[in-house]
Amino acid sequence: MSLRSLLSLLLTLSLGLAFGFLFVSSQFLENHILLVLPPTLATQTATSIRFLVFQQFLLLVLLGVVITFVYFSILSVIVIHPLRELIRGIKAFAADGTTEQMPSINETTSEIKSLKEAFSGFAEKVSEAHKKDTEISRVKSDFISTAAHQLRTPLTGIRWALEALEHEHLSEEQMALVKNAVDKSHDLVAIVGTLLDISSIESGKFKYTFEPTNIEALVSEVAEDFSTLAQKTQIKLYYAKESKNIPLVRADGERIKWVLNNLIENAIRYTPAQGTVRITTELGAGFVFVRVQDSGIGIQEKDRENIFERFYRAGNAIAKENQGNGLGLYIARTIATDHGGDLDFAANPDGIGTTFTLSLPVQ
Ligand code: ADP
Repeated sequence: MSLRSLLSLLLTLSLGLAFGFLFVSSQFLENHILLVLPPTLATQTATSIRFLVFQQFLLLVLLGVVITFVYFSILSVIVIHPLRELIRGIKAFAADGTTEQMPSINETTSEIKSLKEAFSGFAEKVSEAHKKDTEISRVKSDFISTAAHQLRTPLTGIRWALEALEHEHLSEEQMALVKNAVDKSHDLVAIVGTLLDISSIESGKFKYTFEPTNIEALVSEVAEDFSTLAQKTQIKLYYAKESKNIPLVRADGERIKWVLNNLIENAIRYTPAQGTVRITTELGAGFVFVRVQDSGIGIQEKDRENIFERFYRAGNAIAKENQGNGLGLYIARTIATDHGGDLDFAANPDGIGTTFTLSLPVQ
């Protein structure tokens, strides 16, 4: 309820009470006069009293209207208008962190003045904290970027050296060790690549080459790439194509392939053996939807809000797969939204596993 409505209600109530009081008093007077005066005089006096009460009532209403008008005008100027300005300023601050709208507030009363000062102090503190946060974030990003760049060259060297070793005549045991080291070096190169992606996302340097892209072909290719891993981990991996023709989407093929890799790999990793991962593509409302549905460990209610946060890993995921950095979904969602689409997830209707849905606008 607004301040104005509340005051109107109070004034109407006061008027009602005043009139009620007037009416009860007149009734009381009439009854007593009728008892003491002769009948002819009593009737006349009663009529006069009623007329007087009616007159008083009209006067009360008139006075009420005038008082209300004056009251509202004063209230509007000294309280409601400054309060509205303050609300506008607070909303502007919440939207873009600026306090430019503040000076237009008239400090008509000491309370409004204190409120404005309190808000200005609060806004200053928030701005300072935000500045500090941005600076820390920038230093962190710079550090990640520098560290990743520094690591990339020696790592690539190590990987090449190990790959070269694979072609040497080695004993079975040595070969197994080298193979393991090659796999680990691939993982490390991928992690460094992810860190570089994060730093370019944060510095606004993550670039795209948008082209008309055949999403079905991309999905088929990535699903095919994962068939070996799926077999090894005893997961049934399906890609069910839409019967209708799916049009081309506007996408950076390489980046979307990265997203699909991430989603399908997660689905396989977070699904126990004998489980199923089912991929579908569907057309609807100007978008193509790619769904990756698994019968895996699922995402618990308490983790849902944070799943797209950087470095976030849910407890059940860590227990199932201790390897992971919690960066994939953050990057994947950024790529999806940069395409004008989205990436989201939902629990499956039967309560087992999760479905991630990537949407991309039709070309
Ligand atoms: P990572 O898999 O390396 O931990 P991601 O960013 O790809 O990082 O995923 C973040 C978190 O989201 C995972 O740690 C896991 O908790 C959750 N998650 C992602 N995909 C799935 C899935 N298919 N089923 C269950 N949890 C998932």
